[in-house]
Amino acid sequence: MDYKKQVALLLMLLSTQVWSFTFNNSVGASFENDEVRVDVSNQTCSQLGITQSELLSLAGEAVNIYWNSVHTSRLELTKGSIVSTSSLFRTDPICSGSLNPCIPNPDLIVPSGILIACNTNAANFASTAVLALTVPNNISGDKLNGALILINDNASNQFAGKSREEKISILAHEIGHAIGLGHSPVDDSLMFHLSIDTRQALGWDDIDGVTYLYPSEQPLGGCGSIENQNSKSGFLIGLLLTFFLGSSIRSFKFQRPRIA
Ligand SMILES: [Zn+2]
Repeated sequence: MDYKKQVALLLMLLSTQVWSFTFNNSVGASFENDEVRVDVSNQTCSQLGITQSELLSLAGEAVNIYWNSVHTSRLELTKGSIVSTSSLFRTDPICSGSLNPCIPNPDLIVPSGILIACNTNAANFASTAVLALTVPNNISGDKLNGALILINDNASNQFAGKSREEKISILAHEIGHAIGLGHSPVDDSLMFHLSIDTRQALGWDDIDGVTYLYPSEQPLGGCGSIENQNSKSGFLIGLLLTFFLGSSIRSFKFQRPRIA
């Protein structure tokens, strides 16, 4: 865990909230750069009823309404472009073998940033109810280089019937996986897996999660000034840290690559 993440973790532990966010990989990986592009594959989305350009527009709204609104996070997701990719992104399984645990398909590695593609592979989408799959499939140590989001583009897929707002919140949920978050057990969260398409904003656990993975520079100065100005509060903070570190840090979960 690097220094900035440790500081962000300690500041979150000072909160009276219980935090429950999880990661979708075993190392808590995150993108190193502050700015991360979200691109769309040029492979067709024939069954979604939308063009690649419209899909890119939805992704742009998803990052701005949700993940770019967190002031304690350094992450800035940007709407990229429609990029030329192999047709395998439309036809191939996202994992080699089973979906869980997932060994990323080497033919679908995303070199950098986040790529969204429409896909028809039956191993990816066992039913029309599976809306999308996401795997951060290019990780070096705890550095996330690239992540792939596949949207179900089979006939009768249920993504096509969603409203514009629902499609945006579903994409925002998948982008949450792409930046390193797993599912949250907190039902008032975008990353809670049962109410994705009804969300209109991030919940506090989503904000804690993205702040942990992408801490902004701002909290670093505030931490020192608190302790320097009041030794009594510094002592209290020490007690709180001892309590929280002893009781809460074990709720911090790492998971294998998240695929839904
Ligand atoms: Zn999910």
